[in-house]
Amino acid sequence: MSAASNTDLHRDLRREVADLCGRFPGSYWRDLDRREAYPSEFVETLTGAGYLAALIPAEFGGSGLGVQEASIILEEINRSGGNAAACHAQMYIMGTLLRHGSEAQKREYLPRIASGELRLQAFGVTEPTSGTDTTRIRTSAVRDGDRYVVNGQKVWTSRAEHSDLLLLVVRTTPLEQVEKKTQGLSVLLVDLRTAVGNGLTIRPLRAMMNHATTEMFFDNLEVPAANLIGPEGGGFRCLLDGLNAERILIAAECIGDGRWFIERAVSYANERVVFDRPIGKNQGVQFPLARAHVNVESADLMRIKAAELFDAGRPCGAESNMAKLLAADAAWEAANAAVQTFGGYGFAAEYDVERKFRECRLYQVAPISTNLILSYIGQHVLGLPRSF
Ligand SMILES: Cc1cc2nc3c(=O)[nH]c(=O)nc-3n(C[C@H](O)[C@H](O)[C@H](O)COP(=O)(O)OP(=O)(O)OC[C@H]3O[C@@H](n4cnc5c(N)ncnc54)[C@H](O)[C@@H]3O)c2cc1C
Repeated sequence: MSAASNTDLHRDLRREVADLCGRFPGSYWRDLDRREAYPSEFVETLTGAGYLAALIPAEFGGSGLGVQEASIILEEINRSGGNAAACHAQMYIMGTLLRHGSEAQKREYLPRIASGELRLQAFGVTEPTSGTDTTRIRTSAVRDGDRYVVNGQKVWTSRAEHSDLLLLVVRTTPLEQVEKKTQGLSVLLVDLRTAVGNGLTIRPLRAMMNHATTEMFFDNLEVPAANLIGPEGGGFRCLLDGLNAERILIAAECIGDGRWFIERAVSYANERVVFDRPIGKNQGVQFPLARAHVNVESADLMRIKAAELFDAGRPCGAESNMAKLLAADAAWEAANAAVQTFGGYGFAAEYDVERKFRECRLYQVAPISTNLILSYIGQHVLGLPRSF
């Protein structure tokens, strides 16, 4: 695809997604936030329009687009005032199934995910005791004939109540029995429709924002051995492959947030008159917005670079991590500048600023915290000693 046609494609894609999102205004998201309800109608509309199948190859019924295009879709959702967290996992989990799923698994699941018959929205890695140190997870899967028996617990498994499938990371060999701590992890595809009530219990977890997140308890859950994705014990590699896509997609959501905050704040600063002048005339109001804009646009360049490298199949760990860090910081800076610009109204639910403020705070912590990105850059890019 030439650069020109690529630009046309991106422009059209942005416009189409923005049009769709226009049918779900701030009042829609505000109401869901108040009721802590899941945006089913929005996700169904997005699925029906084919956007959540963006990364699925055409031979399996998807659009066969790249991470660059997928990131544009998520960016536009957040830029419209919505929250792509309701559905982003289908984009970033997909990589593990696409790259490591067997031909039979892809044939079985991908067309049905592309058509919307099956939802692949839940990803269970984090556990209460292991935190960021994934190699220390305790949820185990023991092979018993043609099935695995799973026991353990996960926390912060988002959208588990709104997904048919769960990508679950487990230990198939105990930590004490492996040479390297990254060995012995495996990835299972769990069918939530049959698992719940048969060894799996899901409990909703209330959070700072409306995020449909849960904790999960596994008590002798049986999962067919045919649902193992990639090699047994080689799950860490399968996981890592998906992480760069995840970083890029989250960076795009942050950029969408940053642009939304700045657009709203600029419009308010031009209209709100105090001391006989629009507040935006004061440099004390103008400069924080100008600086946030500079940082959002700079972060976007790194996001584009990372996505281009990813789609070209080239190494992009450094760029993906830098894009995530820069975009999360820029969005948070824009969020703070917007609240300050709106003054007291920044705290009023009807302006949506306080909701988006809560939503965008997450990306300093999840799916990877700022500290962990800095330690990645320190060790793997700069060659500094390992700190853990
Ligand atoms: C709303 C929400 C949704 C989520 N959704 C999912 C999901 O769908 N699936 C899933 O698997 N997980 C999910 N998570 C979990 C998320 O990925 C983790 O919370 C995150 O990775 C941090 O892990 P932790 O909370 O255990 O923090 P910890 O690992 O306990 O870390 C706590 C703090 O200490 C810092 N820290 C820890 N070690 C170091 C170090 N060596 N050097 C410097 N700083 C360090 C961290 O940066 C962090 O700020 C979600 C979390 C939230 C809040």
